[in-house]
Amino acid sequence: MTLKNHFSNIKQDFPILTTQVYGRNPIYFDNAATTQKPKIVIDSICDYYHQYNANIHRGIYKFSEQATEKYENARKKIANFINADPDEIIFVRGTTEGINLIAYSWGRNNLLKNDLIVSSVMEHHSNIVPWQLLSQDIKSKLEFIGVNKNYSLSLTDLEKLLSKNPKLVTITHMSNFLGTINPIEDIIKKAHSYGAKVLVDAAQSVPQMPIDVKRIDCDFLTFSGHKMLGPTGIGILYAKKEILENMPPFHGGGDMIKEVRLEASKWNDVPWKFEAGTTNIAGAIGLGVAVDYLENIGMTYVQEHEKRLLKYALDKMSALKYIDTYGVSDLKFRGGIISFNLKNLHPHDVATVLDKYSIAIRAGHHCTQPLHEFFNLSASNRASFYIYNTESEVDAFVDALDKVKDMFKL
Ligand code: PMP
Repeated sequence: MTLKNHFSNIKQDFPILTTQVYGRNPIYFDNAATTQKPKIVIDSICDYYHQYNANIHRGIYKFSEQATEKYENARKKIANFINADPDEIIFVRGTTEGINLIAYSWGRNNLLKNDLIVSSVMEHHSNIVPWQLLSQDIKSKLEFIGVNKNYSLSLTDLEKLLSKNPKLVTITHMSNFLGTINPIEDIIKKAHSYGAKVLVDAAQSVPQMPIDVKRIDCDFLTFSGHKMLGPTGIGILYAKKEILENMPPFHGGGDMIKEVRLEASKWNDVPWKFEAGTTNIAGAIGLGVAVDYLENIGMTYVQEHEKRLLKYALDKMSALKYIDTYGVSDLKFRGGIISFNLKNLHPHDVATVLDKYSIAIRAGHHCTQPLHEFFNLSASNRASFYIYNTESEVDAFVDALDKVKDMFKL
């Protein structure tokens, strides 16, 4: 099947997109928050519960063997997807848990009082708050790279902060507000030359572009299944094996141990050392199928599709004089996200009217309050695209914005 055909038929793969909202098929533009799920992902979850539901790694019977095989096979597929080794892939609940795991387990064992952690103003709250908690706890320091007026990360700030020899740089690959794609490979190379470890928040980038953890050489990278066609409650933490082996467990409990004595216990090998208790088995299997689906399309094509829609939408929106958009103008450094405001109209009003035209967008601060404050904004609207969105949906979106303008007499 050619790419064009693939994208033109793609909506049929997503049951929710063929439903009706206020008498029309929904136009779903809130993909940076979560994506819709193809039928094969939904079916894979049902199949687990219908056909081979059992706990993994422990049952000596057919269902358990099947569940274990599918779960571990999903790990292999996801490892292959980002060019990692399977034992460097830890199933977590999502990006938030991935970052908290590192802050708790690596941070509390590798950082000392007054050690510096560098993050950025561009981060989602989940890459700020865990480091604040850690810093309050162990009295480490936390400083932030700023953002340039053109919405790119300040590499001057990065250099300045690196010269203070931080122990960790924890940074987003792609901003969920601005869509800015940071030059992650260069950032990692620079940070390593100062001896810092690097954690990449890849919640927005892994769903949209090919990622090779060996090539970018990150120490940690984390992302969420639900933003890439997978189920909620499942995500991935990647970390280099030697780092994982030297980290203590995050949670204690079943499956993460080799042996338990009342005096002390021995930990399981990685990655299971970090997967205590019964994990989200159905979620992991579903995420494996989502990865199959994306690989079948090809991540290069996914990225091209995002860029094409982004350019198409920005060209159309630039003709609307009552709109401010926020984001870098060089689209090489921008993913499929457009945040905007209609003059002084409250974003909730815009989103409420668009909803009546069956168009779902986000309104608020998108868990990036510091970044909004940095640009003197209290909130914004956000339209974000994924593989099933089309140019004609963008046309309908732009028409609906015009209706909002008329309604509020802008
Ligand atoms: N980082 C970024 C850049 C995000 O966009 C998000 C989700 N909006 C997160 C972290 C948190 O992801 P989750 O809620 O799936 O843990």
